[in-house]
Formats: sequence, structure tokens, C-alpha cells
Amino acid sequence: SFPRRRGLPQKRAIRDVKKVVAVSSAKGGVGKSTVAVNLALAFARRGIKTGILDTDIFGPSIPTLLNLSGEPRLDENNCLVPLTNYGLKSMSMGYLLPQTQSDSPTGEVPMDTTPITWRGLMVTKAMHQLLHSVSWGPLDILVLDLPPGTGDVQLTINQEVIIDGAVIVTTPQDIALRDAVRGFGMFQRMDVPVLGMVRNMAYFACPNCGHQTRIFSHGDGEHSHCEDHGVVAECKRLGVDFLGDIPLDAQVCEDADRGMPTVVAEESADRSARRQAFLDVA
Ligand code: ADP
Repeated sequence: SFPRRRGLPQKRAIRDVKKVVAVSSAKGGVGKSTVAVNLALAFARRGIKTGILDTDIFGPSIPTLLNLSGEPRLDENNCLVPLTNYGLKSMSMGYLLPQTQSDSPTGEVPMDTTPITWRGLMVTKAMHQLLHSVSWGPLDILVLDLPPGTGDVQLTINQEVIIDGAVIVTTPQDIALRDAVRGFGMFQRMDVPVLGMVRNMAYFACPNCGHQTRIFSHGDGEHSHCEDHGVVAECKRLGVDFLGDIPLDAQVCEDADRGMPTVVAEESADRSARRQAFLDVA
């Protein structure tokens, strides 16, 4: 065994959690949080005890997606008590750092008079608290909504807690896919098994005629013009599972905006294709 380098935090399992599954994307805006929250709800719907931890510092979206707000209370052990909706426990930077852009109605970062070093310390402290001091109770799966990117923050989180597997979310666009491959490389270097890739916004299904258009497609799908190109081909090349397609669908976006993710919103619609897409990935 290697001697532990001084100064590095000890990597630990998250207390009372059986498996930690990170949902990641190398790039912002590809639908990582939307996929993460719908996956978590799909697990919860199957009777699996599930929680979701939002570690996005600058754009926490889980509070909006789950229609939750307010400061979490502390239990007798000084641990944060998760906020729950739709049977899913959640904890987010958004609950701890009220001065972030998610609270600004214009989406802009509000004027913050806190000196930048203090702000940095607050973020570090809040992150530590999120990773180590939440009373999840017994959970089968904790879905970790990672901040977008393949840099220091992801590395730090991986140095602090044991991640059992990672799901990479991408769109079919070349540029997103190239970034996703970079994300795969990051997890390999961190020794985190990649469970698979999800292709979000894979196609647009016309609500009137049902015709599917692969808007961002470039080599993927039936109209592929180059077989060794695209998300499915890349998965094969990397030896990673392709977990499925989520359509680009205005209703998915609307569900997210009103704080009732598609998996919950369409519970009564047995054959809803958009809901089924998330369930299939789960
Ligand atoms: P990320 O976490 O990667 O930054 P989000 O999950 O916040 O991305 O999604 C970005 C935006 O795209 C949100 O407005 C979300 O509602 C929308 N969106 C995500 N996935 C889909 C989809 N499959 N169809 C339509 N809109 C989507």
C-alpha cells in the first residue's frame, strides 16, 4: 500500500449510502441535471431508496427541478437534514448558498460584497458539509449531480468521496461528444468505472405527426452517413454501455421549469414516450 500523501483529504464512503452514482457532463447545458433528477426519480419509483446531491456551485438547479427551497435544518449530530419531494431526498449547494445566480431573477450573479477569499472558504466549507455531513438515512443509491467540466472541482470531489460509477450525459453534437470522451478519460484516470453514456436531445419527435428529426445528429442513427462516428460508435470504441436516447421535447423542459420532472409529471400516462425514455435509461 502507498503511504498517504500529506495534506490530501482521506477518501471516504458517504455514510449510510450503499452506492454513489455520479451523473456528469464535460460541458454545461446538455441536460445533465435534467437527466440526473429523472434517473433518481425513476429509481425511487422502483422502490429503491434514493437521494440526489447537487454539487454544482455556480448553477445549482436541483432546488428548481424538485420545487424545493429553504434552509435545511441540522439534526442532533449537526448533520444537514435533506429536503424531500416526490419521495426523493435532496441536498444542494442551492440550499446552503443563497447568494448564487440561481436566486437571481435575471440569472445574473448578484453583487456580493463578501471578499473573494471568504467566499472561496465558504464554498469549500459548504462542499465539505455536502459531502460528509448530510443525514441521508439508509440509501441504496445516491445520485451525485456533478458540476459540468473535467477539472479541479471534479477531482476534489473524487478525492473526498468514493464514487462507485459514473454516467456521462452528452448530446449528439460533435463538440459535445468530443467533450464527453474527455470526461470518460477523466473518470478512467480517477479509477471510477463509467456505467455508460446517455444521448440527450437525441431527436425531436413532432407532437403532431410523430416524425422524428435528428436535429443534432451527425453520424448517429438511421440516417448515419458515417458508421464509425457518433455517440453509439464512440461507446463501442471505448467499451462503454450506451444507456439510451432522451428526445428533445418541449414538455421535458416545461416539466423541469415547473419543478415537476417528467418521470413524476407523466406518471399516469403509461405510454408516454418521453417518460419511458428516462425509465429505460434507469
Ligand atoms: P445541465 O445540467 O447540463 O447544465 P440542464 O439539465 O439544466 O443542463 O438543462 C439545460 C436546459 O435544457 C434546461 O432548460 C432543461 O429544461 C432543458 N432540457 C434538458 N434536456 C432536455 C430535453 N431532453 N428536451 C428539452 N429540453 C431539455
